[in-house]
Amino acid sequence: MKSRTARLRSLEAVVFLSLLVSAAAAQQSKSQPQDDDFARSVKEWTTRPEFISPLVDHLPRVPGIPSPKDVLGHHIGAPGKLTYHAEAVAYYRALAAKTPRVKVIPIGTTDEGRECVIVAVGSEESIKNIDQYRSYLAQLADPRRLTDEQARDVIAKAKPIYHVMGGLHSAETGPPEMLMELAYRLAAEDSPVINQIRENVIVTITPVAEPDGRDRYVDWYYRYKIDEKGEEDSLGGPPYWGKYIFHDNNRDINYSQVTMRTLLDWYLQWHPPIMHELHESVPFMYTFSGQAPQNPTLDPILYGELPWFSNFEMTQMIKYGMPGVWTHAFVDMWSPGYLGFMSSNHNGMLRMYETFGNGGANTMKRKVDSGEATGGGRISPTSREWYRPLPPYKEVVWSMRNNTNYMQTGVLSALQLTASFPKVVLENFYRKSRNSIDSGKKEAPFGYVIPAGQRDPTRLAQLVNTLRIQGIEVGRASTEIKLKEGTFPAGSFVIKRDQPYGRLAKILLEKQDFPDQNLRTYDDTGWTMGLMSHAEVKEIADKSILDVAVQPVDKLDIKGTIAGGQAPAAYAIAHYGSNNMVVLRYRLKDVKVQTTERSFKEGSTEFPPGSYIIAVSQDGKNLQARVKTEIEKLGLTAAALSSMPGVPMHELDLPRLAVYSTWGNTQEVGWVRYALDKFEVPFDLIYKERVKKGGLRASYDVIVVPNQGRGGKGLVYDIEPKSKPIAYTRTERFKNLGVYGESEDITGGMGIAGVAEFERFINEGGLLVTLGSASFFPPEFGLTRTIDAGRTSAQFYGPGPIVEAEIVQPTHPIFYGYSQKTVPVRYANGPLLQVPERDRGSQVLMRFPGGDKSVLSGLMKGAAEIRNRPAIVDVPVGRGRVLLFSTNPCYRWQNFGEFNMLFNAVLNFNDIKALPKSEQAAAAQDK
Ligand SMILES: [Zn+2]
Repeated sequence: MKSRTARLRSLEAVVFLSLLVSAAAAQQSKSQPQDDDFARSVKEWTTRPEFISPLVDHLPRVPGIPSPKDVLGHHIGAPGKLTYHAEAVAYYRALAAKTPRVKVIPIGTTDEGRECVIVAVGSEESIKNIDQYRSYLAQLADPRRLTDEQARDVIAKAKPIYHVMGGLHSAETGPPEMLMELAYRLAAEDSPVINQIRENVIVTITPVAEPDGRDRYVDWYYRYKIDEKGEEDSLGGPPYWGKYIFHDNNRDINYSQVTMRTLLDWYLQWHPPIMHELHESVPFMYTFSGQAPQNPTLDPILYGELPWFSNFEMTQMIKYGMPGVWTHAFVDMWSPGYLGFMSSNHNGMLRMYETFGNGGANTMKRKVDSGEATGGGRISPTSREWYRPLPPYKEVVWSMRNNTNYMQTGVLSALQLTASFPKVVLENFYRKSRNSIDSGKKEAPFGYVIPAGQRDPTRLAQLVNTLRIQGIEVGRASTEIKLKEGTFPAGSFVIKRDQPYGRLAKILLEKQDFPDQNLRTYDDTGWTMGLMSHAEVKEIADKSILDVAVQPVDKLDIKGTIAGGQAPAAYAIAHYGSNNMVVLRYRLKDVKVQTTERSFKEGSTEFPPGSYIIAVSQDGKNLQARVKTEIEKLGLTAAALSSMPGVPMHELDLPRLAVYSTWGNTQEVGWVRYALDKFEVPFDLIYKERVKKGGLRASYDVIVVPNQGRGGKGLVYDIEPKSKPIAYTRTERFKNLGVYGESEDITGGMGIAGVAEFERFINEGGLLVTLGSASFFPPEFGLTRTIDAGRTSAQFYGPGPIVEAEIVQPTHPIFYGYSQKTVPVRYANGPLLQVPERDRGSQVLMRFPGGDKSVLSGLMKGAAEIRNRPAIVDVPVGRGRVLLFSTNPCYRWQNFGEFNMLFNAVLNFNDIKALPKSEQAAAAQDK
């Protein structure tokens, strides 16, 4: 017998269900025929009745307009089906060919040369006049030529573009599938909600944000994962997604990767006020609300808009009966480096979901609550919280269709909100753009000056061009500038804050002042560009900077200079820390290049230690024109010498270089590969297969082991062996695999046999260079017996701050080009190295002063723990040596000021030796 409460509950359930039914009926057009096969299939693939909504449980059939099944052969969310990038694009093209409501816009290519497109969906009128709508948004994005009244007119005529993108992270396989159905539904469905969206909003879609990785992952899925039954036998993904990186395509703050840059270029031409990224991880759907810590420089309107949207979506989906939709407690608003932040950084709005995905299209039982906290939260993902009133279940059978239902219902709800308030969205976009300009007139800092006359102009060019890529206006002063902060020479670069992207300029150039030591954050806390580049950038509180006359800079090219005579015996090229020094050496790889160990002067030019000397006549050839051309192209500072300088020099031989990668952690190796490629340094990428073969010294002079994994053990043992070998090889069927290396079995790691080969390599005279966490490897496996590697305490928290490092052996070749005793470095959470007292004087090259005062930007909690710890150690072992970096001198495409420590190590591999004590002091004076 039922209790009174139970009866009441069941009564509630009946009322609730009937509400659902009527809501569902309301979403379908009475006149439009529906696809019964779709409804039946989707019902079957959805694992519980509450995991679907009335927005997506049906699909209209419109004669002549192809649904996804008409082209792909199956409905979206079919178990065991994933779509390759080209197939998805082909679907959108087929759709666009049959309806004037869809347009496919090619925007460029990926890193591997695949086509990138944007798909626009809207009413026939919107698509026909899309360029007109685009121009309205461009006017609102830069309202300097608009009065408020004119802006109101523009807003009255304009429509918001709402941009949705999937497939940035290749293992998150659902969004690229869902988006095809969304496009079809938006184009074909005749229902009140969809009609309103189509009329009032232009939806643009990035079908797959990382097409290279998508194809590689889909290959991997069909080769290995399609038979997976549950998460316990889940294999993980392929060794590579994109050409160089995995998740960091969402951390590429300087838009180094071609695919990311392609999207940014499109963004800056189209100005969608909202950009929405679809990810997969936590259950069942997290919708980003912009939680703390928040970057206070961004417009406060944004921080109102974010929960406005996420709360609406959550409310709608709870109303439809869908459990597990929540806001807050996952990703914060601190770092500006995520891809979708191109929107909020440019006065738009970044939105983001995490839906629950299975890493493929298999239906499987998932343990949702493993008892462990997820992401930035420290709370169980299934607990009831104020921001999660209807939590996800602790265990669930989950399918691709469930995932599709959640994501699509969420996006349609967000579009419904946008379509209900299109003018509010546009007003906000306009107001945020206007406020950015106004705040630059009202609040200090009013701008930034990058003073001309800094020793290395190439890093200034890198800095200026990186700002320009993001649409930030940079001007060049034609005369001297006098401000309260000082006098800056003609030719200095000026970034004024009273511009549409003035806020972004401030975010990138200022020192990051993390608001609360007790808050955690999802990525780095510091990124100050001047510190990362070792370039001087002056923050200006003097308002008169806004009136300084400047010439706008489009792209900055620095032409190198050569002082002195026409018929030189040699060229001297000053090492001022330009990363182009290594490029010059490799472009002249067949030429003898010497490097100076002491400084000298030629005319008024100072040539510090590490400068290059190149004799013009070598082996009967005159190299003058060739050397001169390269110096000029690379923006270097040189002088023509009438005779060779009388300072000690050594020959700059080129090493046979290898970069070692595990199969399980290729991403940070990828950043090192990227930097070496960009600076034209050739190398072999080697894996355990090559190491275990032995004879490393016969092939290589230098092996670099980039930051990867968490410590020595991970580096040595890597991916846990499975019941059968896991090959990463290219086959006729799987052409996207076996790229950037091949293996018959990626599991197992190099093991102790591999360690022994590394030991042999060093003992036989090789140079091993380990970066960041890879520097746990030599101490933990006895390659450097005298060195210990410790870890910081559980209280320590240092998510990527920029800290001071002190160069204690300035004459060491790895510091060629560095003139300061103390330099900013990005803290890499590498080992706390310990060197025996007797060796400290000779082996410690750089150390962390530590303490709160040494933190230059971002957060380091417990900074006393790194006090006086070595940052770089040079340990002679056998006939070779090991250079251990506790820092990471090649971190993403970011800490350009540190790159030279790695390049110098490579170029001086066989000349790394301490100067005799008697010469050290004198040489130190030279710097
Ligand atoms: Zn993701």
